[in-house]
Amino acid sequence: MDDLIIISNLNDFIFCPASIYFHKLYGSEDTIMYQSKAQLDGTKAHEKIDNGTYSTRKNILMAIDVYSEKYGVIGKIDMYDENKKLLVERKKHVNKIYDGYVFQLYAQYFAMLEMGYIINSLEIRSLDDNKKYKIALPNEDDAMFKKFENLISEIRTFDLENYNQDNIEKCKHCIYEDACDRSLYRGGVEC
Ligand code: SF4
Repeated sequence: MDDLIIISNLNDFIFCPASIYFHKLYGSEDTIMYQSKAQLDGTKAHEKIDNGTYSTRKNILMAIDVYSEKYGVIGKIDMYDENKKLLVERKKHVNKIYDGYVFQLYAQYFAMLEMGYIINSLEIRSLDDNKKYKIALPNEDDAMFKKFENLISEIRTFDLENYNQDNIEKCKHCIYEDACDRSLYRGGVEC
C-alpha cells in the first residue's frame, strides 16, 4: 500500500486536514522553528521514550515500530507492558481525552494485534500530574470504533486542493499559520 497513514497524523487531521501537508513539509527540518513550546515539551517527554531511557524492565517494550496492513497505518507505540497486556500512550499533560488521542491508540492497537501481540487494555497517561485514563478497547466502544474507521476513510479520500478551513480560531492557534496559504489569520490579521 503506498498511501500509508502516519499514526501521529490522525490527531493533526482532526485539528485541520491541511496541517498534515505542513507537518510533512517541515517534519524533517529543525523542529524548533515550527513547534510551539507546548509541543516541544511533549516532544521532550517522547525523546525519553524513543531513546529507551525510561525503563529497562524486560516486560516493558517501548517505542517499537508498528504497522497495520488492514488500516494502512504506520508509526511507533509509546509503551507496552507485556505482563499486563497493556498499551499505554504517555503525554506531557492531558486535560481532556481528545478523540485524536483515542484514535492514535486504536491505530497502534490494531497494528500490534496484526503483529501478534495480545492487548487487553488501553491507557493514556498524563505525565505532569501522573493521571491515568483507561480507554475502552475498540470492540467495547462501537461508536468510537466507527468514528475511527470513518476517519481513516476520510484521510484516504481527502482533497487538499479543494479544502478551506472555516474556523479562524484553529488558524490563530496553528503553528503553520505563517506558512499556510489557507490560513484565515495571517501575520496576526484576520483574512
Ligand atoms: S493555518 Fe489554518 S488552514 Fe492552515 S494548517 Fe493551520 S489551521 Fe489549517
